[in-house]
Amino acid sequence: MQYCSRCLYPAHHPLNITFDSEGVCSGCRVHEEKDTLDWTARKAKLKALVEGYRNRSSSGYDCIVPVSGARDSYFIIHTVRRELGLNPLLVSYNRHYNTRRGHRNLAYLRTIFDLDIYTQIIQPQTVKKVTRAALRARGSMYWHVLAGQTVWPVQVAVRYKIPLIIWGHHQGLDQVGMFSHTDEVEMTRKYRKEHDLMSLEAEDLLAQSPELTEDDVQAYVYPHDKELAKVGVRGIYLGNYIRWDTKRQHEAMIARYGYESAAQQRTFDTYNDVDCLHYSGLHDYIKFLKYGYGKVTDHATRELRFGRLSRDEALALVRKYRDVAPADMPQFLTWIGLSEKEFHAAIDAHRDPRVWRRDGGQWKLLHSVLDAPPPSQAARVALPKREDCVFEITPSRDPTVREDEYVLIDRGYVDGVAARL
Ligand SMILES: [Zn+2]
Repeated sequence: MQYCSRCLYPAHHPLNITFDSEGVCSGCRVHEEKDTLDWTARKAKLKALVEGYRNRSSSGYDCIVPVSGARDSYFIIHTVRRELGLNPLLVSYNRHYNTRRGHRNLAYLRTIFDLDIYTQIIQPQTVKKVTRAALRARGSMYWHVLAGQTVWPVQVAVRYKIPLIIWGHHQGLDQVGMFSHTDEVEMTRKYRKEHDLMSLEAEDLLAQSPELTEDDVQAYVYPHDKELAKVGVRGIYLGNYIRWDTKRQHEAMIARYGYESAAQQRTFDTYNDVDCLHYSGLHDYIKFLKYGYGKVTDHATRELRFGRLSRDEALALVRKYRDVAPADMPQFLTWIGLSEKEFHAAIDAHRDPRVWRRDGGQWKLLHSVLDAPPPSQAARVALPKREDCVFEITPSRDPTVREDEYVLIDRGYVDGVAARL
């Protein structure tokens, strides 16, 4: 198995990766653009682009911004509202795996910026049925979340005739350099299907799952091209116009608006996924069982590329977190109604044969960056260390009984917050 001479990514990265003559991966090369592009000019380009959408929709909204409350939601809204001066409609797909902290971050977000939010909450039994089917079809407990959060904003755009959707960064660009920043790639049905949904659209899931009905998957169906064209829907990524650095961005949002971070089970990144019970737990463990590496490799690679971790420090973090057993597994199995044996049978069917082999009833990991010899050109292509990599864990806002009650009944705002900021 080939590994990048600089970062920790393997050749079998599911988003596809290429290596150059120095053994450096496409993701690392595109990342170098963060230090070479003229970001002032790129931001000016963004401002000119959105200008054409101001006051264009009869809905009164200039654009749609998908939010979860975590994952740069604060930074995206801060940029759209305070820097671009747009009036966005927030849209949110409820993932059903929410933490209290996630609820709180989202409640504070809509209060601080004083914005409308349109939330979709699919009935629980349907989410469970769809998730059981997706576990079998792709070994994914997250398909409904990925499908829901990538389609709900598009459905709302069509319904309310709001053509512009503003996303954060593009994962294919950021992780594996699928595109250059200057390609200014936009949202497509094709990328969603092939990568976000592991080539399984709602219609495909329906076709191979006899227990599902058309109604069960309706919420996950992408609008027809004709509907998109009629409204002129397009989705742009801020990361093409702003030097995207999620760690820095979250720290600015913690300082300015009191965004709450939290320790995570299987990674050192305490900022991105604090809204989900399973993302950095069982869901990430499934990623390891399928591909032989988890999110900690993504996070360590990202921080290494920013010059905040050496390769050895990045490897040490992978070693620390890779095998952590997810404590949230019983909670998920109870929720979905599967035994541990049934769950493992579903996942095992989707292990990548390039890295896993069954040997005497036991699964054996054939390749791991932890066991690989250091790449021969590693020293030559290593980046200088610029700073240390420290992720804060913020104190929780005082979750008094009263505040929690309000947040959980979704009154929509939190007393006194906007006035204080
Ligand atoms: Zn690399």
